[in-house]
Amino acid sequence: MILRYDRLAIELPKPKNPSPNDAAAVQELLGGKFGEMSTLMNYTFQSFNFRGRDRLRPFYDLTCSIAAEEYSHIEALSYAINLLLTGTTVRGTDPEPAPLKDATDARNTYHFIASGQAALPVDSMGNFWTGQNVFSSGNLKLDLLHNFFLECGARANKMRVYEMVSDPTARAVIGYLLVRGGVHVVAYARALEKLTGVEVTKLVPVPELSNKAFPEARKLEEQQKLHLKLYTFSPEDYMKAGIIWNGPHPEDGQPLEVIQGGVPGVPYPKLEEEPQLNAPGADGYDPDMFNSIAKKMGMKL
Ligand code: MN
Ligand code: MN
Repeated sequence: MILRYDRLAIELPKPKNPSPNDAAAVQELLGGKFGEMSTLMNYTFQSFNFRGRDRLRPFYDLTCSIAAEEYSHIEALSYAINLLLTGTTVRGTDPEPAPLKDATDARNTYHFIASGQAALPVDSMGNFWTGQNVFSSGNLKLDLLHNFFLECGARANKMRVYEMVSDPTARAVIGYLLVRGGVHVVAYARALEKLTGVEVTKLVPVPELSNKAFPEARKLEEQQKLHLKLYTFSPEDYMKAGIIWNGPHPEDGQPLEVIQGGVPGVPYPKLEEEPQLNAPGADGYDPDMFNSIAKKMGMKL
């Protein structure tokens, strides 16, 4: 089961300007073949389907911990996309002056037609995410090789999207995901090492460029040691991941560490209504009525 917290993994700055085309590029990291929806669903299905887990518990615990973290990555990217889309069109409810006309210049018109100026489970070209991106063979060595490849491919895509967008919101989320994805690359490499004896961490980093070349990522590695920590994302389970996640980091030699629980997170950014999109609507909603019910229940709204 998953336990959910109403917090976001990282602090996201407000964008300098609305940027629907940056948002469209960032969608690749959410709903692309190598995006966070793919990592989440690959590790989730592999963990559900993991047979013989009593004997192979550390590999199961590692896959479960990373699967749960990927949910927080989908969440962080969605908020980044929503922030980038905010203010793209002129707010107002009068349709006559075409308040959505700027949206016809945006690469992804689904953001304006199919959603209320918000993230969708699509890639940078607007293709919807598909379960065909999920690989769950039931063979541990094969699944771990796939996961290592998937995280390396995801890393390449993050670097390329970083080079496409200069907005600080987009770069903040990509910098964070480069660091956390880097942890997952090393985690699957170490899992393969423990399973087979082959020194897979010698391949790292793939692609060859270090995370330290990206200022947002470098800061998180230097100040928070975020490249060394594997979180279990559970209050008491999955600690046997530490049988795999230990020893020196292959790039800088610092000690790897398992943390019980999730990242502390921050309050999520508040997003204004978009009246020109009839979003969120619900004009008949009476906050006074809800306040009085909440008061009777001893709650504060
Ligand atoms: Mn991720
Ligand atoms: Mn990952």
